[in-house]
Amino acid sequence: MGSLRSRLVLVSVLVALVSVAAVGVVAARLTAARFDAFVRHMPQAGPQVRQMMRGMMGSPERRFLDDIQRAIWFAAVIGLGVATVAGTVTARRITAPLQALATGARRIGRGDLSHEVPVTGHDEIAEMARTFNAMAADLRRVEDGRRELLADIAHELGTPLAVLQANLEGMLDGVVEVTPARLASLHNQTKVLTRLVRDLRDLALLREGVLRLDRQRVDLTQLAREVVETSQTAADEKGLTLALSGSAPVVVVADRERIAQVLHNLLSNALRHTDRGGAVRVTVTAAGAEGQVEVADSGAGIPADDLAHVFDRFHRVDRSRSRSTGGAGLGLAIVKQLVEAHGGRVWVRSRESEGSTFGAALPVAAREPIGSRGE
Ligand code: ADP
Repeated sequence: MGSLRSRLVLVSVLVALVSVAAVGVVAARLTAARFDAFVRHMPQAGPQVRQMMRGMMGSPERRFLDDIQRAIWFAAVIGLGVATVAGTVTARRITAPLQALATGARRIGRGDLSHEVPVTGHDEIAEMARTFNAMAADLRRVEDGRRELLADIAHELGTPLAVLQANLEGMLDGVVEVTPARLASLHNQTKVLTRLVRDLRDLALLREGVLRLDRQRVDLTQLAREVVETSQTAADEKGLTLALSGSAPVVVVADRERIAQVLHNLLSNALRHTDRGGAVRVTVTAAGAEGQVEVADSGAGIPADDLAHVFDRFHRVDRSRSRSTGGAGLGLAIVKQLVEAHGGRVWVRSRESEGSTFGAALPVAAREPIGSRGE
């Protein structure tokens, strides 16, 4: 227990002792000197009278000084008592919250994140307790997020794995016929798993801020044109009109492959969520210090309640949709993190049954000829 507590008590006792000793010494010296001066300067008395006064007053002076000394000792004892009690109370008030903090830190270290330390008053120790509780709350939030993430991952991995396992077992037992179509469907499940694992890895790296970005000067218009061209077949197959607006170069500083991934995610979402006969348009513009790209579709749109969450990890508007056609709800989370890692921003506008527009803005490059690395 509190060596700090005993030290605080000791300090207050020592202070009391020193003060009393100082008062005693000063008082004894001062009274003797004053009395001597009084006798020496008695105006009407000659040297004999003064000598006689000294002789007469000798013992009362002694008694007077003794009384003062006794009073000082008495005060010393009272002072020491008060100092000990006050020191103990103060030391307890200081050390008790510190001990509560130490206990709290030990419990949190053992994983009991629900623990909170009591906060009393408004002094520095109360401030420390408040900071401690805020830290525990932050740890709880992180832990809850981690638990949720693990549950989501287990769920997402579990579904395609269960399909694969059931089918393969059926094939091994001879209950399920091995056909090219069935094999293709199982192969599709492995692709879903591969994409999920890749997305999770990207997200983890982005969240830790360790995803390496190979930044270069990139013409956003040219990049969008390439992504649109690679998606043309998918659009044709679905009977969708796919077009690009904007032809002037808009040069941004970005990792070419990662921004292609962003555009590809936005475009494949738009194609997936737009019914036959609909239209998808990609528009690239320069707006001040930003290069902006928007992907607009005439598809199903997103309910207002979901709109604020579409960029959240594992958020799916239609949870019941088959995972082989939809994703795990990681695509837009990756888009957001990737764009923000470039110092950019993302947005969405949508109206149910009218369509959605997803946008991303990236910082434009300083004006100079497009470098060889980016183009
Ligand atoms: P997923 O990979 O499951 O599609 P995303 O993160 O890309 O996940 O999208 C999150 C949710 O947002 C999806 O469930 C989807 O329903 C919705 N969404 C994304 N893009 C569009 C769009 N263009 N139109 C309608 N809904 C969309």
